[in-house]
Amino acid sequence: MPLEQFAYSASHDLQEPLRQIAIYSQLLEKKYGDKLDGKASQYLGFCVEGAHRMEMLIRGLLAYSQAARTSDSPAGPVQISEVLDTVKKNLSTSIEDTGAEILARDLPSVDGDPVPLVHLFQNLLSNALKYRDEKRQPRVTIAAVADGTCWRFLVEDNGIGIPKEFQTQIFGIFRRLHDRTEYPGTGIGLAICQKIVERYGGRIWVESEPARGSIFYFTLPKGTNEY
Ligand code: ADP
Repeated sequence: MPLEQFAYSASHDLQEPLRQIAIYSQLLEKKYGDKLDGKASQYLGFCVEGAHRMEMLIRGLLAYSQAARTSDSPAGPVQISEVLDTVKKNLSTSIEDTGAEILARDLPSVDGDPVPLVHLFQNLLSNALKYRDEKRQPRVTIAAVADGTCWRFLVEDNGIGIPKEFQTQIFGIFRRLHDRTEYPGTGIGLAICQKIVERYGGRIWVESEPARGSIFYFTLPKGTNEY
């Protein structure tokens, strides 16, 4: 069974028992919370938190398995500047909260489905904001250049950067470089980006220097009449 199909079945089947654990631990907390001593309520709190975290991981796995699916809607030309407008709207609160400057230039259109393209750009942009360097105003540049039969896109930030030895493994499922108390997340965003890019026959990679920033690159094929 391919990994994506396994991820779909596993995440789907795990949801029901998990929901049961979450509901009954919450009920226990609500109905009997005042009868429990400090330790017991602390342990119950861990159960509720664990169930919540598992729910996020399962949701991530489901999103991963869906990113790998081919969509039913026919691929048409998608303006990447419009994709970016949607992403900026979706992330408007974090853009405002972080005071980030978002610069976009030379964005083409590609043949594809807007939904996964929004996911791709949104994962990269939200990471650029999340892994910002508190010492400076976040600046993110999104651009594209023609590269043979492809467009090579870049999403560049001036954030905390990624050490060389981790620059490949961060694209793996659940691979993270930080504790979740430091930066929230499930470690699935970049795996989804990779899946989407590969679905279009492209590739994705990162170049980065710790404390200076990161540049995520990915390629997408040009439309059929654009060579
Ligand atoms: P998440 O953000 O949920 O941990 P991702 O798959 O999106 O999951 O990213 C994996 C890891 O790669 C992150 O935990 C982080 O350590 C690193 N990372 C991703 N994007 C950036 C970035 N723009 N700057 C610095 N580190 C990053």
